[in-house]
Amino acid sequence: MSAPASGTSEVQGPNAVPLTAKLLLVDDDPDNLMALQAVVEPLEQQVMLARNGTDALRLCLDHDFAAILLDVRMPGMDGFETAELIRARKRSRHTPILFLTAYRSDEQLFRGYDLGAVDYLFKPIIPEVLQGKVRVFVELQRTEELLRQQTEELARTERKFRAVLEAAPDAMLITSEAGEIELANSRADELFGYSRAGLIGRNIRTLIPKWARPPAGGPGIREPRPEARFHAVRQDGTTFPAGITLSPFHTPEAKFVTTAARDATSQVAAEARIQKINVELEKRVQERTLELTRSNEALQQFAWAASHDLQEPVRTVLAYSQWLGQAIGAGLGPREAKMLQFIEEHAKHMHQLLGALQEYIQLAESGQQNRTWVDCNAAVKTAQSALLGAIHESGATIECQGLPTVLSSDVLIVQILQNLISNAIKYRSDQPPRIRISAEASSDNWVVSVQDNGVGIDPKYFEFIFGVFRRLDGARHSGTGMGLAICRAAAERLGGRIWVESEVGSGSVFRFLLPRTSD
Ligand code: ADP
Repeated sequence: MSAPASGTSEVQGPNAVPLTAKLLLVDDDPDNLMALQAVVEPLEQQVMLARNGTDALRLCLDHDFAAILLDVRMPGMDGFETAELIRARKRSRHTPILFLTAYRSDEQLFRGYDLGAVDYLFKPIIPEVLQGKVRVFVELQRTEELLRQQTEELARTERKFRAVLEAAPDAMLITSEAGEIELANSRADELFGYSRAGLIGRNIRTLIPKWARPPAGGPGIREPRPEARFHAVRQDGTTFPAGITLSPFHTPEAKFVTTAARDATSQVAAEARIQKINVELEKRVQERTLELTRSNEALQQFAWAASHDLQEPVRTVLAYSQWLGQAIGAGLGPREAKMLQFIEEHAKHMHQLLGALQEYIQLAESGQQNRTWVDCNAAVKTAQSALLGAIHESGATIECQGLPTVLSSDVLIVQILQNLISNAIKYRSDQPPRIRISAEASSDNWVVSVQDNGVGIDPKYFEFIFGVFRRLDGARHSGTGMGLAICRAAAERLGGRIWVESEVGSGSVFRFLLPRTSD
């Protein structure tokens, strides 16, 4: 036996069709074998040689030949016997065998054909004829191999596709544009209660009556529509809510729609529960708001009535203490005079407290303010003139910069500015007060700042000082602790807010925000 005699067995990758086919030449005569080899050489295929039937059979065990050229007359096992054994093996059952013979006997021809010969070549061999025939078988083998590989590839792809379809968490139905079901996964069978065979070919509208083909995208494009809720029908006629997502896609041959469906029964129930809870919550919030508004109103009325009714006895105490002082002033000893002065001072303070409280309640109660164009520079002037005495006495300077004209309430703006300027003077350091009032615009608001060079405030009190009756260091300065609470109520009435930035010993900046939506 002599193995590869010529050519190569190059292949392109594991699954590619080999570039060359294998040919087996069998002849007991070495000269004939060489002659045959020379004839098939120009075909540039891989050629193997065998000198007898046994060698030929052995080679057939290990190789797939595109064709076997088999000499009929050989000593020992002749061509026909060899062919019979080649045919008996699974691997070489369909390998084309061309018999080479010098005798044209019908008997021989029939025997050969019986043994599965595909053709005869008569000696002397005509090279062109032999080459032509062999070329056909080489081509045939290539085509067969190609076909086999393509079929395998197709089967692999199909298996993958089915696995993906089965692995999907939803029921998946692939339909034609008209809705005819072409493929479905087992979740689809379960969800709709059909057997697979019962689903294929059925129109999807029997499962989802309102199913409508989505507008198609470009070739091969999947454009899933957002999930929508549909009524779905099971085989037994029962219905259920289903979450449906539709994705159209094209192949060169046709348009399809992938429908992903899932049972939304529990989701619908949960939504209904949430909606019910929301309605209940809303109702409870409304009731609570109403209750709170009522009790707030009652509290305000009470506070108003109390502060109003208390004013009268306080005024009386003040008036009588003053009369008493005038009536018997000279007759009082220093201890009694001091006591009377005490009564007078405290009655005055009480009077101020009640006045500030009333002012605050009025502000908190007042509804929508009448809005006019307010020049903030003019508002500063008004506040300044109300504080002339304190300004003069302290030597304070007030400087304004870039103040806007806003659609707002002048009374409230003056009230805020007056309280802030008054505090800036009251809580001054040992320097004469320097007050700078400026404004900055953002897209929605004006931020007005009142900066002083006073004693400053510890940041831990930033919130505290805006509370009702809240004071720091009350012993050194007179006051009600209501000024900043009134500022906050006024700023909120104007649709804004107020805050402070400061450090002890470094002065303070009070800033309030005015909406500029309509300026
Ligand atoms: P009052 O001035 O009557 O005490 P406010 O509500 O106007 O009440 O102020 C609350 C507290 O905030 C004051 O007692 C004071 O300690 C502090 N405060 C307010 N304004 C300033 C300021 N410009 N500088 C330093 N401290 C201030």
